[in-house]
Amino acid sequence: MSGALPTIRIAVSACLIGEPVRYDGLEKSCAAVTGGLAALAELVPLCPEVGAGMPVPREAVDLFGAANAPRMVGVVTGEDWTARANAWIEAALDRCAALGVAGFVLKARSPSCGVGTAALYEAPGASSSRTDGLLAGAIRRRFPHLPLVEDEGLDVEAFVARVRAAARG
Ligand code: SF4
Repeated sequence: MSGALPTIRIAVSACLIGEPVRYDGLEKSCAAVTGGLAALAELVPLCPEVGAGMPVPREAVDLFGAANAPRMVGVVTGEDWTARANAWIEAALDRCAALGVAGFVLKARSPSCGVGTAALYEAPGASSSRTDGLLAGAIRRRFPHLPLVEDEGLDVEAFVARVRAAARG
C-alpha cells in the first residue's frame, strides 16, 4: 500500500497563476501559489470578471450598496455586472463541488476575490468599508467548512495542512 497523500484540488484566482485576466492587463502571478502550492495541489483557476464577460484590459469595477448584496459596477461607465458575475460564480462553484475542490486561495482586495478586503462604497465618491468580493462571499456561504484565504501572507504548508484536516472532517 502506498503512503502517498491523496491529491487535493485548490481553486485559485486565475491571476495568481499568471493568467492574463486582470483589468489592467498586467501579469501578477504569486510565487507562493505558482512555486509552492502548485507542487502540493492541483490548481483550479477561477476569474469571475472574465467569466462574466469582461474584456482584458477593462475599466475597474467597485462594489456598492449593502454588504449582504453588493452591486458590482464599472467605475467609468456605471455598467452593472452584478447579475452576470453572480451567475458565473454559481456555475463555477457547481464545478468546484463536482471536482471536490477542498480549499480556496483568492487575490487580496479585489471586488470579486478579496476575502474581507474588498472595498464597499455606499455611493460613488463616498467613504468605503471592507467586505468580501462577490466570489469570496459566495464561497463563504456555500462552503463554510472549507479553508478560504488570500494570497498575501499565504503560508502554503499551513494552508495545505488546514485543507487536509478539513477534508478529514
Ligand atoms: S482578482 Fe479575481 S476577478 Fe480580478 S483578475 Fe484576479 S481572478 Fe480575475
